[in-house]
Amino acid sequence: MKIAVLPGDGIGTEIVAQAVRVLKALEVPLEMETALVGGAAYEAHGHPLPESTLKLAKEADAILFGAVGDWKYDKLERALRPEQAILGLRKHLGLFANFRPAICYEQLVGASSLKPELIAGLDILIIRELTGDIYFGQPRGRRTAVDGHFPGAEEAFDTMRYSRPEIERIAHVAFQAARKRSKRVTSVDKANVLETFQFWKDVVTEVGQQYPDVELDHMYVDNAAMQLVRAPKKFDVVVTGNMFGDILSDEAAMLTGSIGMLPSASLNSSNQGLYEPSHGSAPDIAGKGIANPLATILSAAMMLRFSLNQEVAAQRIEAAVQKVLQQGLRTGDIYSEGCTRVSTEEMGSAVVKAL
Ligand code: NAD
Repeated sequence: MKIAVLPGDGIGTEIVAQAVRVLKALEVPLEMETALVGGAAYEAHGHPLPESTLKLAKEADAILFGAVGDWKYDKLERALRPEQAILGLRKHLGLFANFRPAICYEQLVGASSLKPELIAGLDILIIRELTGDIYFGQPRGRRTAVDGHFPGAEEAFDTMRYSRPEIERIAHVAFQAARKRSKRVTSVDKANVLETFQFWKDVVTEVGQQYPDVELDHMYVDNAAMQLVRAPKKFDVVVTGNMFGDILSDEAAMLTGSIGMLPSASLNSSNQGLYEPSHGSAPDIAGKGIANPLATILSAAMMLRFSLNQEVAAQRIEAAVQKVLQQGLRTGDIYSEGCTRVSTEEMGSAVVKAL
């Protein structure tokens, strides 16, 4: 099993190094090859996603990704900015299904801004469609309005669209994921206003008929945003489009209060996937050795589960992470009084030891 290791920028190199240590400590035969991506690749090769990195990623069974970006690249033309590497990988590998679990660990209940009783035991999986919707729909651009409220005025426009196969495949992913959990799916739409999302709702309902053992309900996105902060434990698997998923998955992530703990996965139809923490490259703390590596280590667990079919190894990592939290070990971002503050490397060592 071949893994492309793409650490990227900022804390990316520090946290990925710990995830690689954890993977090496497992008795699983993994071949790992590292390549530059993001700002680091731009510095070395003049492009955030060089051909050699893309080739490695395409050939691998899975990609372990750190994070990309730094404010110093903000003035580069858009095509050369570090973030383009992620968009390029999604496009070239057809990574259409984004998995963002939001799990509240018992030991970290206090990190949430919500009351402990609302958040304790939270375990939601947001599945976001990643390659369609208004983010990619054509046409888009700027022009002079010929109608609307201000004919003759300058205007900008985007196109929201979804085809039947795009909705069907993400719906199947959601129902199949629900079968491995508590067999409940909430499809989030805006069918009351948008034609695209009435179609979304119709197609998800049709696909749902093939999964009579899974309970399906539908919720408007504005209500879903409210329910996530009012009663988040009502949800189990949430499936939605690209834009709503972008917003709701960040909202769900912040319910737990600790972004340094949250993994993510983006999969294509052959289960090849890109696994990365939900946070960014954190340039403010890069190089200090204090970043939390657990989101990346948990992303490696997701990689073993979804792309490499190594459920036991995935569970071993997750249990090891629970154990270090029980031992009271905390990086700065999740530190609270009475715990032991550890560095990035010490946290990695503790997980390896717990394994
Ligand atoms: P960020 O997630 O990098 O950081 C937000 C805050 O959380 C910072 O204070 C940071 O120190 C803290 N933080 C994040 N991860 C942490 C960890 N593992 N341990 C401890 N603290 C952690 O978001 P930002 O500051 O808005 O963006 C910084 C850069 O990251 C930008 O260039 C942005 O474009 C990029 N970014 C990249 C990705 C990605 O690679 N997928 C995602 C988001 C942002």
